[in-house]
Amino acid sequence: MNAATSAFGVSPRQAHALAGLDALARAVPQAVILEGGSAEDRAAAGLYFAARLNCQAAMPPCGTCATCLQILENVFRDLHYFDGASETIKVDAMREVRLLVGEPPRGVGKRVILLAEAQGLTEEAANALLKAMEEPRPGNVFVLLAPQRERLFPTLVSRSFVMTLAWPDTAEPTPSGGDDDPWPLLDGLHSFWRTGRGWFTASKGRPSRACAERVLTELSRELAAFLAGRQDTELGAMLGTCHDPDVPRRLDLLLAESQEALILTVNPAVVLDRLATRAYLWLRR
Ligand SMILES: [Zn+2]
Repeated sequence: MNAATSAFGVSPRQAHALAGLDALARAVPQAVILEGGSAEDRAAAGLYFAARLNCQAAMPPCGTCATCLQILENVFRDLHYFDGASETIKVDAMREVRLLVGEPPRGVGKRVILLAEAQGLTEEAANALLKAMEEPRPGNVFVLLAPQRERLFPTLVSRSFVMTLAWPDTAEPTPSGGDDDPWPLLDGLHSFWRTGRGWFTASKGRPSRACAERVLTELSRELAAFLAGRQDTELGAMLGTCHDPDVPRRLDLLLAESQEALILTVNPAVVLDRLATRAYLWLRR
């Protein structure tokens, strides 16, 4: 890790993934999926990779040249950034991408088509993207960001090199008390699932979307740990005493649905309330 990685906002937790991206930059796949981490981690790693492929410094990316600065400001001519978190990625946009990647990049590096929170792609848009991925000219790279590869259409995953970022470190939560602090909500959820009481009071504070996203990320992490055989989390302990073996799978689907509902800018409190009550019915003994 150096000054350049902090220019891109990459967390020190992601040193391993960055080393992987540096290796990929030497033999660039046509499409890369970055999964894991938080939405911010994925966006930072995606921009880092775009700069790694275009910065002409001796040790790219330098974080200070015109190319790096333009990438950081999303005004670089060979970076095309689609943010599924702030709006639906439209089929028309993917058709334009298909025309774009029929041409070589304009600069000396690679043209990067970066799709943040690509799990929000409609089936129609994903199909248009797939067509673009099937016939690109050399010099074009697709980078898809998503919480987990299972949330993308399998046809996209099968064409991509998948790299997994480190999960957010639960030992270092955001400073408590801020609007995006997920821990009071998580505590409320865990306690509601254990006792059946208290959740709706806990959610009165109208969580922000970023906060709700962090709650979902943390629950996904707990579920992943449980599926890997660990029961040392609150959710893992509850799943461990749950009699229905199908609950982890249903919970995974519910988390994916909740993530998508958040992207479609449904009220975050409603999304979390629905998650809380549905999972409660499955988890109660
Ligand atoms: Zn640079």
